[in-house]
Amino acid sequence: MSVRIDVSDIKEKAGLQKRTDLSVNLEPVEFSGQEVRFPEPFTGTAEIWNLGDRLLVRAEVSGAAELVCSRCLKRYTEPVSVSFDEEFVEAAPGKGESDAEEDAESGLTVSFYTDDEIDLTGPLRDNILLALPMKPLCREDCKGLCPRCGKDLNEGPCNCDRPDDKIDPRLAVLQDLLRKPDSHS
Ligand SMILES: [Zn+2]
Ligand SMILES: [Zn+2]
Repeated sequence: MSVRIDVSDIKEKAGLQKRTDLSVNLEPVEFSGQEVRFPEPFTGTAEIWNLGDRLLVRAEVSGAAELVCSRCLKRYTEPVSVSFDEEFVEAAPGKGESDAEEDAESGLTVSFYTDDEIDLTGPLRDNILLALPMKPLCREDCKGLCPRCGKDLNEGPCNCDRPDDKIDPRLAVLQDLLRKPDSHS
């Protein structure tokens, strides 16, 4: 699914601007070794200004990503919001819109557009991926899995650290003493 915005109404004159609603469904992507899914469309707005020699797009979208918690390995949904700027220049004849080049003056990457339409699909996807957490957590205090038995500790403690399993030898001696019948009476 692509997000294309018609700019024929503002591209001829510097100072013109427009605002448009955005809605984009993203395909699942492979990110940090896991499949990230997007259960709902990202929605928001884009404002486009004609700066004379280029178009400046300021986009804001929010939605959600389905990630795998890095501690308990369960899938959960993380809200994601991004805002970013992207500059577009009309492609010279013979140049494809997929070409992007570094602007010598500003150091910013400039994308090209053709047919009076700018394509925000790539910038939207890239910026949403950049906003995903490197270490996803289903909740701040996720307890994760027991490294020994693998139980999800959010659902309760496991039996790995039960005191009966190994009694401190010093306590064992004390227990023996307490069990001895009193011989001084
Ligand atoms: Zn978790
Ligand atoms: Zn355990």
